[in-house]
Amino acid sequence: MNPRMLVMARESRGMTQKDLAQAAGVPQGTLSKAENGSTELSEDKLQRLADVLRYPRHVLEWTDPVYGFGSSSFYHRKQQTLPQTTLRKIQANVNFLSMRLRRLSSSIDIKAPFSVPCYDEGEYPSATEVARSIRARWMLPMGPIDSVIAMLESAGVYVVRRDLGSPRISAISVWRPGENPMMVLNEGMSADRERFTMCHELGHWVMHSEPPLEEGRAEREADDFAAELLMPAAEIRPQLHGIDLAKAAALKRYWKTAMSALIRRARDLEVITPSRYRSLCVQMSQHGFSRNEPVEVAREEPTVVDAMVRIHLAEHGYSRRELADVVGLRSDEFLGEFPGPAVGGLRRVQ
Ligand SMILES: [Zn+2]
Repeated sequence: MNPRMLVMARESRGMTQKDLAQAAGVPQGTLSKAENGSTELSEDKLQRLADVLRYPRHVLEWTDPVYGFGSSSFYHRKQQTLPQTTLRKIQANVNFLSMRLRRLSSSIDIKAPFSVPCYDEGEYPSATEVARSIRARWMLPMGPIDSVIAMLESAGVYVVRRDLGSPRISAISVWRPGENPMMVLNEGMSADRERFTMCHELGHWVMHSEPPLEEGRAEREADDFAAELLMPAAEIRPQLHGIDLAKAAALKRYWKTAMSALIRRARDLEVITPSRYRSLCVQMSQHGFSRNEPVEVAREEPTVVDAMVRIHLAEHGYSRRELADVVGLRSDEFLGEFPGPAVGGLRRVQ
């Protein structure tokens, strides 16, 4: 048994040592020692723990490395105000997810035409220049990015949407050495916010593979990167002249970025004055647009993870139960996490 996996399995269920010990009928002291690696548990106790935690028993043997918040593999936004227990649960679930995707992809050859480049600290030009180089490298046509998810998937990124258990986190991205990068989007964001968030996270991967010294600077750079990637200055500057709320709504429809992001872009590119910017922000708030913007941008859907499930089921002859076991889930939970193509036609089998 790998003690680290026992801890992670417990934390992924949001359970304390006491909760788990009681539910599994194991003395808390024994469980504590087992989690520290200072005692071995009998097979019977291990099975009871696995049952309570609702994981196949072999998950407790996995030896994958586990990454935490603050490691350079693990990016996130706005987590500082969350309680430790919530953070640890999210961290455990995101780690599990990346371990599952690694197992799901290990016997499948999905070739991505591009890859995510990484600049060393201090070796990159401005964030704006980096965004331009990404557009060139990934051969993006001029104009708005049609689908940010498709763009990321073409660079080998796994994109998944999950309930992260708190609206304060918009996304978490994980890039384990030697593996495909993974981006986990929190449920419940508008499509325009998702698009900006994904580009922001991509900016961290490209520019900040080493944690930068100053977090404020990293956040600004990631925002500048996202803004240029989604709304290239050379193209959008002339369109921003005379921006007001009506024009921002029209531009939102075309660029698929929030009205607030477009108004901010107009200020950052010095198309409008700071006082005009403030006045537009006040108008946004007076109309209730700070919370709820008009103009809905179409939601983007990931396809690669579904395709990996489909290939296992349709081409490699796995049953759902077998595939669930491979990725360390029970069948019922597997269906919730990786619905994939339905047999019988609820979801289209490609
Ligand atoms: Zn960030």
